[in-house]
Amino acid sequence: MTYRAPAAEYQFLFRHVVGFDRVAATERFGEADEGTVSAILNEAAKLCDEVLAPLQRPGDLHPTRLENGVMRSSPGFAEGWRAIADGGWIGMSGDPKRGGMGLPMALTAAVNEMMAGACMSLQLAPLMSQGQMEALEHHASEALKDLYMPKLMSGEWAGTMNLTEPQAGSDVGALTSKAVPNGDGTFAVSGQKIFITWGDNDFCSNVCHLVLARLPGGQPGTKGISLFLVPKFLPDENGEPGVANSLKVVSLEHKLGLHGSPTCVMDYDGATGWLVGAENGGMAAMFTMMNNARLGVGGQGIGAGEGAYQLALGFALERKQGKTPSGTIIDHADVRRMLAEMKADIFAARAIMLDCAVATDMAEATGEADWRARAAFLTPISKAFGADTGISVAQTGVQVHGGMGVIEETGAAQFYRDVRVTSIYEGTNGIQAMDLVGRKLKDGGDAACHLMDEIETHAEGARASHPRMAEAVWQANESLREATEWLMAQDDMNNRFAGAVPYLRAFARVLGAHYHLGAARAAPGGARERLARFYIPRMLPEHAGLLAHAQAGAQTLFDVSADDLAAG
Ligand SMILES: Cc1cc2nc3c(=O)[nH]c(=O)nc-3n(C[C@H](O)[C@H](O)[C@H](O)COP(=O)(O)OP(=O)(O)OC[C@H]3O[C@@H](n4cnc5c(N)ncnc54)[C@H](O)[C@@H]3O)c2cc1C
Repeated sequence: MTYRAPAAEYQFLFRHVVGFDRVAATERFGEADEGTVSAILNEAAKLCDEVLAPLQRPGDLHPTRLENGVMRSSPGFAEGWRAIADGGWIGMSGDPKRGGMGLPMALTAAVNEMMAGACMSLQLAPLMSQGQMEALEHHASEALKDLYMPKLMSGEWAGTMNLTEPQAGSDVGALTSKAVPNGDGTFAVSGQKIFITWGDNDFCSNVCHLVLARLPGGQPGTKGISLFLVPKFLPDENGEPGVANSLKVVSLEHKLGLHGSPTCVMDYDGATGWLVGAENGGMAAMFTMMNNARLGVGGQGIGAGEGAYQLALGFALERKQGKTPSGTIIDHADVRRMLAEMKADIFAARAIMLDCAVATDMAEATGEADWRARAAFLTPISKAFGADTGISVAQTGVQVHGGMGVIEETGAAQFYRDVRVTSIYEGTNGIQAMDLVGRKLKDGGDAACHLMDEIETHAEGARASHPRMAEAVWQANESLREATEWLMAQDDMNNRFAGAVPYLRAFARVLGAHYHLGAARAAPGGARERLARFYIPRMLPEHAGLLAHAQAGAQTLFDVSADDLAAG
């Protein structure tokens, strides 16, 4: 079955589930009316179906290579990048003054997800550029913005993000890369970075690295880190790539999936860089990029899930095994269960991501703190649940295929291998969950409460038309409220952290039910209502076990000592 980007699904979500009309009603995003949104989604879907999806398998079979220091991308990737760039998809939400389209983040999130479903390893490249542009937009000097942003938006140049070092993964504050002032406003950046996505390519005339490094005297930990823009080629007086900078790709990591996307060990040896943001303010600047990328990585999970689902559905509609009414395995109860779970979870994860993107747009358009807080609260859920959904859906996709699932030719295994990393990069899902129960509840639970109040009001409003589903959502929301209060009452942060992952997942489950209920109300009597009737009694109840786990505290966890874990 060939991949079909879910443009129609997005149109439904925009219109009926996440209230995109509020974004379109703002002055800032007034041009994003329904007709424009549909046209953009349909055009992006065409690119995904016709240009990007055909690159998925070649990228896996013919990984990017490093030949004598020169990157050789997978077959067709250069043309794929050009098509993405020429369509204006990289700068979709970028500043129109510098060549962007100024469109809402919700649209970018949708298009990014559709591209990830088509070919995630290539889609990572524009995703990195988008994150970099966002960091530059908010933190760089006007001169840097004028020089770099138009070229990044047009795809002439590409961007990367460089945080990770061998000893500094989740603990970014442990990094040791250094930056020394050159005395002319530039800095000499030195150090080794690992795992750098698209650290180089053969389809852009320059590659711009955002690098975290420590200035002389910078205090230990994250407070002493600064951010630098370090291009592969130093721009000449006309702003064109000039002299090669002192940096190189040392090697490529050999990894489980995403073979078309080079993951690089980078060496910076006194490379010339420009400060972005304040001295020692690197983490704040990097967080702008990471928040953008977190939404994007959640979307990658959903996209890969969508691709895996379509493949599994196609297989189930054709594979004959055992006696069923249609003659194919789709009529076996267990196969039907797997496919319904896949579809229902993709819907839930997609709605969460889109709600988060809508909140981001509303925060930008109105400047209101409540929208900003909602976006901040939903970001870790969107990232972690999107990634987990992609992984579980792709894993189930392999199962639907039976033995053919582990045979590479079907493509089912590739989705699973490719998506696996999404719960690891951009902050592991464990770190996302800790952020949710730590920093994101520091507001006294206001953002969480606003969301739960909204779910409660919605469930009450649905009692007349959908009494059973409304009651189940209402009850689950109450349990979530109690668990949130329990977590906030814990002064020992380990009591929160021990339950962080199950709490995040439970929150996503309840949100998923809320959106499914919304879809059922918007389209009564149809497939969407039937999917909600599947999700709410079968998948929502998982929240109860998760919340019990979330409130179990740290004591019984640490009672299982390291020696116990090692015992035979
Ligand atoms: C394919 C790929 C592409 C990548 N691209 C980039 C890139 O472009 N730029 C970049 O800078 N980095 C990139 N990374 C690096 C990625 O962001 C890190 O792998 C990730 O942050 C985790 O760091 P780590 O691998 O060192 O794991 P570790 O930090 O060693 O974590 C190991 C385990 O311990 C857990 N853990 C660690 N600290 C804590 C804590 N405080 N509390 C609870 N649990 C904890 C983690 O959740 C994880 O389960 C990429 C990685 C991969 C695999």
